[in-house]
Amino acid sequence: MFKSLDEMVHRIAEKSKLSKEEILERIKAKQIELGQLITPEGAAYIVAKELGLDFFAIVETKELKIKSIIPGMKNVDVVGRAVKVFPVREFQKEERKGKYASLIIADETGSIRVVVWSKDVEQIEKGEIIPGMIVRVRSGYTKSSLQGEPEIHLGTRSKLMADTSDVKTLPELEAFAPELERVYIAELKDGDEKKEIRGTILQIFESRPFFEVCPKCGKRAEEKSGVWACRACGQIERPDYRMVTSLIIDDGTDNIRATFFGRLAEQLLGISTGEALKISKESGNEKKPIIDRKENLLGKEIIVSGETRFDTFSNRLNFRVRELISLHPDPKAEAKRFLKQLEKKLAIE
Ligand SMILES: [Zn+2]
Repeated sequence: MFKSLDEMVHRIAEKSKLSKEEILERIKAKQIELGQLITPEGAAYIVAKELGLDFFAIVETKELKIKSIIPGMKNVDVVGRAVKVFPVREFQKEERKGKYASLIIADETGSIRVVVWSKDVEQIEKGEIIPGMIVRVRSGYTKSSLQGEPEIHLGTRSKLMADTSDVKTLPELEAFAPELERVYIAELKDGDEKKEIRGTILQIFESRPFFEVCPKCGKRAEEKSGVWACRACGQIERPDYRMVTSLIIDDGTDNIRATFFGRLAEQLLGISTGEALKISKESGNEKKPIIDRKENLLGKEIIVSGETRFDTFSNRLNFRVRELISLHPDPKAEAKRFLKQLEKKLAIE
């Protein structure tokens, strides 16, 4: 694929000691020399060759489209629009301490997370790379995220560059607006409603999976010295049971505790409250319904929607699940979702 004249001039300038003006002059001169029979790009190619530069380094793009990136690649060059830029974070691994940051870039074929370490973090810290900008990644390497998706990492020989030139084929930032419903965990804040998150189940709490409710109104029932009562209805002969399960979801940007009540816990564990009660009773272990299913759920990918509240007890955010959207996200459906957004965008134009 031929690059634009601008980009060719830029590349020639990078690789020769000439200024852009000098190169443009040479290109013009070459066109005149050849009786204007050649395009400026063609002339630029000849100028580059006369300077002893590698043809492919000048005109051929090695840049990959995002959809063709898979884990385990080296020397990955890619260009995309930064659609999200996350705050810089610190890490400590044994003796090593440092900073990293991540961003999501997108092209017309998809989006991908880019993880930036040490030297490149500064650009993000200084606000030199912000959403909406075009960024070029040079010599990145790819690995698999916790969700099993490819992500690009920048090593010591890699480069992250903000690019001021516009690349027409890249989706505009607005194309990602409909995705706001789906957010990254790092973006969640107290008071958020109806946000969708997607991540991996990192941990399941082995706590008692039941709580007692009033059989009349469904509100939580409380026991005082052997007598059950509901705040609204007063004394209760026998409470009903509901299930509750909490787990930690991680999407690479952060993790959050998510709580599933009632039918959502049933859905998550794949068991009815009645069956779970029976298992607990027969085994003499109330936690058994969770213990039995833990192995099967850990590491699974999950998509849920719900609300975020600050929990004063744990001193951190808690995600109250309102809908369990999927326990086995289908990559095809996810890709379709992305394309739909692009189509929407194109329909507007
Ligand atoms: Zn009641």
